[in-house]
Amino acid sequence: MKRIVLASGNPDKLSELRYLLRDLEIEIIPVRDLIPEWSVEETGSSLEENAFLKARDAAEKTSLPAIADDTGLFVDVLGGAPGIYAARFAGIDCSYDNNIKKLLRTMLCEENRKAAFITSAVLVSPEVELSVLGEITGTIIEEPDGEDGFGYDPIFLPDELDRTFARCSAEEKHRISHRARAMRKLRERLLKLR
Ligand code: IMP
Repeated sequence: MKRIVLASGNPDKLSELRYLLRDLEIEIIPVRDLIPEWSVEETGSSLEENAFLKARDAAEKTSLPAIADDTGLFVDVLGGAPGIYAARFAGIDCSYDNNIKKLLRTMLCEENRKAAFITSAVLVSPEVELSVLGEITGTIIEEPDGEDGFGYDPIFLPDELDRTFARCSAEEKHRISHRARAMRKLRERLLKLR
């Protein structure tokens, strides 16, 4: 079986990517299974730059093909914030719940609640460097609703559904999610890896 390394320490992301690529004959190994102290500072100024920083570092240190993804939440009325800083919107080491509370406070009484998740996914190996994007638009609702998913899922109502991502099964979320759309574009190239 082919092996690729996932350049992320986030267990939620690992389980989503394993689900999304479950039908490929590829073992996805989280980088910290190989290098327990692995971490990369996300100093890039775009999702793609940050994804490449992580994937290039993991590929070099493990000598395996690496994938990484970086997601931002772009809220129209906030001029695109939190954008690439979605993970640390409420501060370094904050929880998903802290971020949700800060976003809802910041948007109190705002009528325009349009937002989009954008994922940059990259693949890095000695033969290839590839970068793709996936996007979904939706609305930030006024109160969290639902228990499933992670991150901002309880307050994100996709335009294509009548409930938040946190009220969807994995199958429903990934029929349309930003990460699934990006991963669909990477699949063909993943299959060709030696
Ligand atoms: P990352 O750069 O991919 O780790 O994503 C940054 C942050 O965006 C995460 O810490 C989450 O708060 C949020 N995020 C990423 N993907 C999702 C998702 O699928 N649903 C909800 N929030 C997400």
